[in-house]
Amino acid sequence: MKNMDFDLSTEQQMLVQAASEIARDFQPDFWREKDRKHAFPDSFWKALVDAGFTGIMIPEVYGGGQMGMLEMILAMETLTSESCGLAGTWFLVLTSIFGGLSISKHGNENQKEKYLPRIVKGMEFCMALTEPDAGTNTLNTKTLAQRDGDEYLVSGRKTFISGADRAKGMLLITRTTALEKASKRTDGLSLFLVDLPNPAIEIVPIEKHGINYSKTCEVYLSDLRIPEESLLGEEDKGWRLILDTLNPERMSFSAAAGGLGLLAMNKAITYARERKVFDVPIGSHQAIQFPLAEAKAKIESARLLNYKAAGLYDRGQPCGAEANMAKVAAVEAGEQAVYHAMQTLGGYGYAVEYDVERWWREINLIRLAPVTHQMALAFIGEHVLGLPKSY
Ligand SMILES: Cc1cc2nc3c(=O)[nH]c(=O)nc-3n(C[C@H](O)[C@H](O)[C@H](O)COP(=O)(O)OP(=O)(O)OC[C@H]3O[C@@H](n4cnc5c(N)ncnc54)[C@H](O)[C@@H]3O)c2cc1C
Repeated sequence: MKNMDFDLSTEQQMLVQAASEIARDFQPDFWREKDRKHAFPDSFWKALVDAGFTGIMIPEVYGGGQMGMLEMILAMETLTSESCGLAGTWFLVLTSIFGGLSISKHGNENQKEKYLPRIVKGMEFCMALTEPDAGTNTLNTKTLAQRDGDEYLVSGRKTFISGADRAKGMLLITRTTALEKASKRTDGLSLFLVDLPNPAIEIVPIEKHGINYSKTCEVYLSDLRIPEESLLGEEDKGWRLILDTLNPERMSFSAAAGGLGLLAMNKAITYARERKVFDVPIGSHQAIQFPLAEAKAKIESARLLNYKAAGLYDRGQPCGAEANMAKVAAVEAGEQAVYHAMQTLGGYGYAVEYDVERWWREINLIRLAPVTHQMALAFIGEHVLGLPKSY
């Protein structure tokens, strides 16, 4: 995805250039192998860290690049679309958004000094929000952190926690006031910074459909003791902070969806120019050409909306509407592109060696997470269209 056609600053262009250079070193065969072997991409992670990408949004005083969400998206979509697939976004979300951004925005001075320089140097992070019983209904979180002197005592279970098997830091979301005792439903949630590994935390990987170079895990918390200085923000007031992390997460996955769409589409275009079965290149058939053309138009539109969401976020303005609309549009456009890339390749689209089947497995996640497609639509229905809440 070449970003040079947008009105980017010199600094942004340099960032895109740096992302392009990393992407060049991590071609699809690298990811095919990592996915097949379920192996973490150590050399890719090192390249991201060495290029300063884990610290893109971290203030300079802690060693970061002090840039915004827009720059983060530019990096993600370049890495994703030029060769890395979802991996080009995934690892930056786990560490740089869940860890770096949350702490930069909401941490106190001690927390910033403790974590941010380490994140810049490659300390991995994860976020433990989802619970088996609560699912999409975050306010139904059951894991409770109870005060015990100058500590909190926590027991509970989290599920689908990506990167928890390797992370050295976890952004843990719990209730500090049970839902039935909270004055309003959005009160009573708190965020904690937890160091890993910890004997009170058991981590069990879940076998999954794709993104097999990174593990997603069940997390069991049994009488975990968290010192009070590990509370991020104010006790019971975590809801606003969670949203402040989830919107950038949404924007990141929109970048990933568009990026994956373009990556698969570019493979399909090259193939469709060369492949002849009835004497002419298959790309000359409208049935092959038009779905890709339509997906391209939609991806570029979603991308602009995502840039708008990121710009609003960077200026401290409400961005929920744009972030959700961009995600809905990006995942539909991206899925259309990957699906039709697979059709374009015919039987080869189904062969592991041609990579499109992997990108299809990867993009399938983006309809389910970080926010499900249905819940993003529910947000738009209620908050953008002004219709009654649908659930
Ligand atoms: C690979 C992977 C990685 C993940 N990584 C993380 C992570 O790092 N950290 C983390 O905290 N979580 C993570 N998640 C969790 C992810 O965010 C949740 O799976 C997702 O939010 C949906 O929750 P659920 O699976 O419980 O679905 P449910 O909430 O059970 O929903 C099931 C279906 O019902 C629909 N539905 C539910 N309620 C409504 C309604 N009111 N109206 C319309 N439709 C509705 C949903 O849209 C969905 O389609 C990950 C998930 C996966 C699969």
